Amino acid sequence: MLQVESLRKSFDGFAAVSDAQLGVKKGEVVAVIGPNGAGKTTLFNLITGQLKADGGRIIFKGQNLAGMSPYEICRRGISRSFQVVNIFSRLTVFENVRVAVMSYNKSTFNLFSKAKDTAVSETENILKSVGLSGKAGRISGSLSHGDQKVLEMAVALGNRPELLILDEPTAGMSPEETRNALELMKLLSRDRGITILFCEHDMELVFSIANRIMVMQHGRTIIQEAPDVVRNDSRVQEAYLGGSDEGICCDS
Ligand code: ADP
Ligand code: MG
Repeated sequence: MLQVESLRKSFDGFAAVSDAQLGVKKGEVVAVIGPNGAGKTTLFNLITGQLKADGGRIIFKGQNLAGMSPYEICRRGISRSFQVVNIFSRLTVFENVRVAVMSYNKSTFNLFSKAKDTAVSETENILKSVGLSGKAGRISGSLSHGDQKVLEMAVALGNRPELLILDEPTAGMSPEETRNALELMKLLSRDRGITILFCEHDMELVFSIANRIMVMQHGRTIIQEAPDVVRNDSRVQEAYLGGSDEGICCDS
């Protein structure tokens, strides 16, 4: 579904991404891990068109995404959430999701669709699937941090993605919120058939859900393999043990 080859991006001569390689198959859950500053967010920004690459290729469903705007990329089926929560904080939970649903429906509007009615039921469905139905009328800015991150996922779902990209979906969450977010990701993958690409610091979560894990260090891909292979790779252990106090240890 997604193939990233030799991708590069520099900021004022500093190579944030120098050689990223990534493959995501339809239906997979793929994690990107790596120490802070490894280039994970930059990689996601390149895939979703927020940044333009200096070199390399991004192929999505057989099409090169080079030169496409974030909007065009989203229309092709890639939706994302951000590391820093990105919602309309003064709108209600319901309104935030409905805006996404309506903007999607508007662009596929035809004479026979009742855009507004469909948006309401679809918004309700999405809120139900992420467990936010009971908070539909709340002002989004008043939600807990964990709920705001979940709401952001719900907004992303409004675009009916085939590939959902999540940048640190559990950052700042309590252990309970993290467990819920994990269950939600499983549900989206299993029941909705959405392909998921995410980066995450919580190694327990990564190893409990990812089918494959890509490891980045200093802007480069070190490896992309099944969890067991990654865990036992000496380069990966070095990347984590050398220079970072975030261990990759995970007993499960
Ligand atoms: P990660 O998400 O893995 O923590 P990032 O992709 O955010 O890493 O950042 C990779 C490197 O690129 C970091 O050193 C960061 O400071 C740098 N960087 C990211 N975005 C910019 C930018 N817009 N301008 C300059 N440097 C940037
Ligand atoms: Mg980041």
